[in-house]
Amino acid sequence: MKNSTSLTSLSSMDKDLSLNSLTQYGRAAALQRSSVSNPPSARQVSETREEYLPPQIKPYQDLSDKGNSAPTLVKKKRRKGRERITANLSGTRYEVVRQMVEKMGFSVAKDDDPTSYLIWNDCFVSPDKISELKPYQRINHFPGMGEVTRKDALARNYLKMQKALPDEYNFMPRTWILPADYSLLQNHAKELKMKKKSKTFIVKPSNGAQGHGISLYRNAEKIPQTENFIVQEYIDKPLLLDGFKFDLRIYVLITSCDPLRIFLFNDGLVRLATEKYLPPHESNVNHLYMHLTNYSVNKHNEYYEKNMTIDTGSKRSIRYFNDYLRRSDIDVAMLWRNIADMIVRTLLVAEPHVLHAYRMCRPGVPSGSDSVCFEVLGFDIMIDRKLRPWLLEINRSPSFGTDERLDFEIKSSLIEDSFKLLNIKVSDKRRNIAAQKAEAQRRLFRTNRKTDTQDVTAMDQKKASMDKRKEELKDLLARVRKMALREDFEIRNCGRFKRIFPSDDRLRQDRYCKIMSSAFSVFLAGRGTSMQREIQVNYNNKYKEEQLLDMIAECEADERDSKLYPGGKPPRGPKPLQSMPESLPSVPTHYYEDEEDVECDSDGSPPGSLSRHQLHVRHRSASGSRSRAHSRMSAESGGAGDRASSSHSRPGSGVTLNSNNRAGGPRPLSQSTLNGVAGGGGHRSRSVTRAATTNKLTALQRSNVDDNFLNSMVKEREEELTKKTLVSLNEMRIKFPGKSDIEAEYLLDQLHENWKFHKPRIASYWLVKLDSIKRRKVVDIVRSNVRAMLQRIWRSSDIDNLRLYRIFSRVFNRLLWSHGQGLWNCFSPTSNTWETIFSKSSENISEAEMDSCRRIVQLCKDCLLIVYKFADEAKNPTSQVGGEQQQTGTDKGQSFQPQQMTIPPPFENKPAQNGYLAGRDLRPPVNWNPYTSYSQRYSRIYQQSNLTG
Ligand code: ADP
Repeated sequence: MKNSTSLTSLSSMDKDLSLNSLTQYGRAAALQRSSVSNPPSARQVSETREEYLPPQIKPYQDLSDKGNSAPTLVKKKRRKGRERITANLSGTRYEVVRQMVEKMGFSVAKDDDPTSYLIWNDCFVSPDKISELKPYQRINHFPGMGEVTRKDALARNYLKMQKALPDEYNFMPRTWILPADYSLLQNHAKELKMKKKSKTFIVKPSNGAQGHGISLYRNAEKIPQTENFIVQEYIDKPLLLDGFKFDLRIYVLITSCDPLRIFLFNDGLVRLATEKYLPPHESNVNHLYMHLTNYSVNKHNEYYEKNMTIDTGSKRSIRYFNDYLRRSDIDVAMLWRNIADMIVRTLLVAEPHVLHAYRMCRPGVPSGSDSVCFEVLGFDIMIDRKLRPWLLEINRSPSFGTDERLDFEIKSSLIEDSFKLLNIKVSDKRRNIAAQKAEAQRRLFRTNRKTDTQDVTAMDQKKASMDKRKEELKDLLARVRKMALREDFEIRNCGRFKRIFPSDDRLRQDRYCKIMSSAFSVFLAGRGTSMQREIQVNYNNKYKEEQLLDMIAECEADERDSKLYPGGKPPRGPKPLQSMPESLPSVPTHYYEDEEDVECDSDGSPPGSLSRHQLHVRHRSASGSRSRAHSRMSAESGGAGDRASSSHSRPGSGVTLNSNNRAGGPRPLSQSTLNGVAGGGGHRSRSVTRAATTNKLTALQRSNVDDNFLNSMVKEREEELTKKTLVSLNEMRIKFPGKSDIEAEYLLDQLHENWKFHKPRIASYWLVKLDSIKRRKVVDIVRSNVRAMLQRIWRSSDIDNLRLYRIFSRVFNRLLWSHGQGLWNCFSPTSNTWETIFSKSSENISEAEMDSCRRIVQLCKDCLLIVYKFADEAKNPTSQVGGEQQQTGTDKGQSFQPQQMTIPPPFENKPAQNGYLAGRDLRPPVNWNPYTSYSQRYSRIYQQSNLTG
């Protein structure tokens, strides 16, 4: 077996190659640029290496120079004064991306231009960056996608879904995640031994790529207990091509996660091994050229063949593969249906994570708006002898290297067709700016609404319920129309893509909806229920446009009747639809604030959710949105209906409801008609219901009020409210269930005093034990309370669109950055790395805003400590704060008598004013007396509040 390479020799070879290439090809600059802003993970670095081509391989341009049938890149002359779509390519080193950008007629922006329409990054993109994007921008990664692109995360999430739906999740080889599953693996090995069965296992680094660090074992008992590896059953009877093992690189485009749209590209790569396949045996398990099909591995074999004709070479096209199968009388259509089905089921596992993360980054954006993220994923799939497809892994940064002509042909049209499906328009930017302006004015003239329910007469209530019904129908109509437009666009522009989700096959789509519901229940616990209606509306809506128009007409007839016969005839119109959302962007409110669903188990789910005050806040907001839903909707500009319209014009992000209606700005009433697509119906009624509050605004607009004057008024008001927010934040405390604020304070201090003891435990609890959803829940305790407080201070239910909340969102996202590392870094006394999120930002952050962010970080830190302590106590009821080392501290804790304490005014009268949270602002000296320091601390905070207020 002279052409076999051992594992170690291969990895060292690759290392040399990448180093050489870096020096030889001088494209390192581009790589460095991108890696400075987004430090790449080991996986990304390794993906990156493939691009530095060995000298003998010429890039595509050379081939085209020799008269090949490559597409000619027409450089369009730039007409003076005419705007073009710009693309920021500083984060990519792939020439083919640049070429396709030019082919599309886009212009390449300067490296430091953050305002480009299109941003292409080879590496992972931080949630901060996604939060900062304007609605007209597009970036080629989704947040949260790591949940299926890291091998261990994919295995973990897949296993959870397999437990829930074993018949649907049976397309990945059995997998164990090390070190956690090591004993399970050993038990399995023993069982095999007892049954005298032999199986081969493949061991892969969790975050590896390009075949690095992979090894095969014939006996699972010999697999070492290593960290960060996964072990998989080896598929030992693969389908062979000319006697070689192969895998398929299949490209999938996701254009939106809210709602989910998945497209499958009709070509891809077949990557062959370079040594003829033999069933695994002790004598050949080290033959990586036989068992691994990675191009990055096999290109080093002297037998690697370049693709010169369609049916030769170690890399071939999927088109060729399909022909090959057809010639062997294999049902190719069926095989691809199965593959597409498998891809959809895999991405349904990702959807709850991606949607949650996306909504965190883009709060307040109504479902169905243009997505700022898209992603081209590379699926690695193997086919066994029974023609069954197996998922090996998903790459979020598949290589767009074009070493061979075949690569260029496939990847260039993949990228070009992806760009077309993104539907980027020059006018998007203008609309966004207009919308921002309109939103600023709208907020300035927002009046204090009268929400006193006593004044609401029975007549008003009846009218409110009718209006609500009509609003629901109009919102649904807007969605149906928008969806139809989108589908029409996709059909005309899909090129070589085929949409695989949502499926056109009704039965299949029903099945996908069920899988999606399960995925939400599995990954987002109780929140899954609140997603059901969304799934129904987005993916399984049974109402057609005509039906909805009829229903709206009936509602209007009811309205006329009720005017003619007040208190008389019963309404004829349809009852509220169970399947409908109450308002377009109702999700963020339910989705993030529904703390009911937050578990509170010893597993580490947040105890903050049990806080009485939180329940109070939730109840308040719930009653606000239900019993007073209408009065708000009609009187407030922040009501449900208006939230959709205000979302046209979110400052800084200018959320859009529909590209046709983005121009935003308060519309004159006469303008609101049912024409246009999205929001056609919705806008009309919104404008009507909003008439009372916007009178002032429209009057002023008519008289051409000076923009600068308006802006300065808006600014002043915002500054004042920001200061109030800071005061309120300083008053917040994290609540420990069953303990008083003072006891919670004491616990926090004990944790800090015994930091050396607790540090490794808290680190392991936060960074290892809690999964991403639970980590998010911890941060969400603070987030949801901050939201409630903002709603109160800013007198708006539409706080998602507040500049201040968007700033806070970036801080929250930063804290969750890198699997919670962001928050953990904040515990280092010298580190305030989160503040760097603002250093590169184009936004100016005021002192009060920065102080508010600091306070939020402090609250999150406290929240983590309380959650940790709570979980610890739940697990070991006898566990005590200072651990074994601090008996005295614990004794103190047990003899708390808070009722005997004197709290200086003004807090004695309002100890829990915002007390759904409790926190610590000022650290006491190590040997402090909890009673006196507590009082002192409170008075100091109060003084501080006065100053800032
Ligand atoms: P990497 O990200 O390092 O490329 P993969 O999971 O894609 O890791 O595995 C690399 C190669 O190993 C695949 O292309 C395939 O040929 C082979 N391989 C991986 N897992 C299995 C498996 N379970 N059975 C058979 N071959 C496998």
